[in-house]
This record gives sequence, structure tokens and C-alpha cells, in this order.
Amino acid sequence: MAPFVYDVAVVGGGLSGAAATIALKQAGYSVVWIRPKFEVTDYKVGESLAPAANPILAELNLSHLLQSHKHRQSNATFTAWGQTELVERNSAIHLEGAGHIINRVTLETDLNMKATNVADRVVEARLSDVSERNGVWLLLTNNVDDPHRVSARFIIDATGRSQILSKKLAHLNITKTKTNDHLVAAYAFLKQRVDSNVIPTQATLIESVDSGWWYASLLANGALSVNFYSDPDLMPKGLTDDIATWRNLINQTEHISFWIKDAEFEIDSPPKITSAATRWLTPAAGTAYKAGWMAIGDAAASFDPLSAHGMTTAFWAAAQCPKIVESYLANDYSALQKYADAVKKGRKNYLLQRNAMYSYEKRFRNNIFWKRRF
Ligand SMILES: Cc1cc2nc3c(=O)[nH]c(=O)nc-3n(C[C@H](O)[C@H](O)[C@H](O)COP(=O)(O)OP(=O)(O)OC[C@H]3O[C@@H](n4cnc5c(N)ncnc54)[C@H](O)[C@@H]3O)c2cc1C
Repeated sequence: MAPFVYDVAVVGGGLSGAAATIALKQAGYSVVWIRPKFEVTDYKVGESLAPAANPILAELNLSHLLQSHKHRQSNATFTAWGQTELVERNSAIHLEGAGHIINRVTLETDLNMKATNVADRVVEARLSDVSERNGVWLLLTNNVDDPHRVSARFIIDATGRSQILSKKLAHLNITKTKTNDHLVAAYAFLKQRVDSNVIPTQATLIESVDSGWWYASLLANGALSVNFYSDPDLMPKGLTDDIATWRNLINQTEHISFWIKDAEFEIDSPPKITSAATRWLTPAAGTAYKAGWMAIGDAAASFDPLSAHGMTTAFWAAAQCPKIVESYLANDYSALQKYADAVKKGRKNYLLQRNAMYSYEKRFRNNIFWKRRF
């Protein structure tokens, strides 16, 4: 018997893959969602959701997810960037409403459950290979004990920085991956001393230093997310195993170290490190052989977290999927092209804004981290 051919295969279990699955099901398409088993952890890094996400989540009928007490509105951001003093940027009067400091684990769990419930089929595995036959994608997953082969007319790469499909297409010269910088993040979540009576300020703080920049934000559960962004060769060696080096690094900041001490947060473990590099695909959508594909979220373009664009762009791309699939299945490829053009334009605007932001910090312009970004 010939295997069932889904309209769409969505590959990747992050925000973009879950949101795309939900959006496509709301539009009535048959969807197979291929993603690894969802692992619930205590924390996941990346919590500033820009105000621009509000109308996109409304379009996806997902605004209610932000109403959980586990997220909080983000009205105040303080920056020491280009000057020593802290300057407040208040977003309460933003036209799209306030941004949010979200609990990433909660938001991803909620999206994952919703997408799991609506998908026609969930394949809990990693995509390992794809091929195409007569305009249909054949997808192979890596589950050795229970290998799955599924077929779909259209494929969406939502595998984040792994870019599983896009890398394969890049090998075939169908698309190109470009890496613009090698930014990494050292991050940790600090808890207050158990006997502390201090009520910490609900704020986000950004502070530049000679070898990079810091971000700290108070989560709704009272933990403080602390991130240090720099280049891999400028990060202290052995940082992820050495709490003393992490403490020394934090002590080199003026405002963030003051906040940590003043609000009695404890630095009780070294940080983890992850890539935060700027990387993109050109084009981010098209046809390969005779079948349609698009990359969304970080698989299409991953941004410097300074922009706080990543999640919003992931939701935006997920919201584009239904109309792109609709026109593709009607043999009209113009929506695919329009999407690829929009990703390219968005990436160019982002680079201009990011470069302007870095060049605003003149105090450290002779330091290598900043020189690389001028
Ligand atoms: C340190 C850091 C801080 C950040 N801070 C912010 C912030 O404050 N605000 C903001 O908006 N953005 C932030 N971002 C960016 C944001 O986290 C990303 O843009 C967002 O997670 C992109 O979601 P995604 O679903 O595209 O990718 P991901 O979240 O990376 O999800 C990819 C998914 O694909 C799965 N996958 C991988 N390979 C395969 C395979 N072979 N088969 C099937 N599935 C696969 C993975 O397991 C994962 O589930 C930050 C990023 C970093 C690194």
C-alpha cells in the first residue's frame, strides 16, 4: 500500500516548529511533526519577548499563553551602553503593548502540548535524511529501533541552529549558509538567598564591558537570568567548570554585580555556554528538485540576542506558513519567493541595527571584541 502523503512535514520541536504546526492545523492542512522527545528542564535561556510578538501571537490565536503567572510584563530596561551610568528605556507606551519576560520552559511546554494535540502525526525522533521523488519528500528519522519513513509534499526546517534540511540543501548548492560572527553566551540562573527579605526590582539590565556585554533579567519566579556575551577566544578558559572565574567575571561589571549583591542572589554554580552566532540562509525558501521547502526561526536566520528578535521572528515565520503552503500546493511559487525576500530584507535591517548598536559603544572601541563589530 502506498504511504500516506502529508501536506506538510514540520521538522524541529522548538518555538518555531510548534507554532508552525499549530498555524498549519488551524488552516486545515495535514501535518506530520518530527521532533525529538520533549525534555522538561528547570530553565532555558532567552526570555525577552519583544512587544512586536504581541500581534503575531494574536494572529496565531496564542496570546492567552502569555497570561500565565509564570511570565511577566517587561516595562523597564536599564542600559549602561556607551556610558557608565544606567539609562532607563521604558516600553510601557509601546504601540504593540508591553514586551514580556517569559519563562521559556513554560512557553515551550505549552506550545509543545498544543502542537502535539493538533498534529495529525507526531514522530518522536530526529530527521536523519531526506530525498525527493516526483514532487514528494521522503523523510527518514534516526530512531534505529523503530525507523520511520514519512512522506510530505512540503517540508519546513525548524531545526534551529542545526539547520538539518538546510545543510543538506547547502551541500547541493540549493541554498547557502553564511556565518557572520561567532558570538557565544555564558549563562546561569541565580536564586536569592533563602532567608533574603529583599524584593528584587522587576527589570532587565544590559551592561557593556571591554570584552563583550552582559544581560540580566528578573524572571517571574524570582530567579535572575544572567548572560555574558563574548567571542569564544575571549571567554576565560575553563569557565564552565570554574565558579571562581565566573564570580571574577561578574565582579568586573559595575551594575550587574551590584544588583546581584544588593538583592542577595547567590552565584553557586559555573555557567553553561552556548552559541549565539549570527548565521543565515540564502535563500530561506524555494524548491529543491520538484518539491517545496522553507526554513523558519533560527534555521532561516539566527540573530545576536542583543536584538531580542529571535523568538518574534520565529513566530512571524510560523504565521507565514499557511499562506505559503496554500499557494505552493496550488502550483504558485510566488509566496515562497516573497517569504525568501522578506527574510533577506529582515536580515539586512537587523545587521544595520545591530552594527549601529555596537558602534554606539565608543568607550571600548580599541578592544578586539568591539573592533570586530565596527
Ligand atoms: C543565549 C541566547 C539568548 C537568547 N535570548 C533571546 C531573547 O532574549 N529573546 C529572543 O527573542 N530570542 C532570544 N534568543 C533567540 C531564541 O532563543 C531563538 O531565536 C529561538 O529559540 C528560535 O527558535 P527555533 O524553534 O527556531 O529553534 P530552537 O529553539 O533551536 O529549536 C530547534 C528544535 O529543532 C530540534 N532539532 C534539531 N535537530 C533536529 C533533527 N535532526 N530532527 C528533528 N528536530 C531537530 C531541536 O531539538 C529543537 O527542538 C536567544 C538565543 C540564545 C542562544
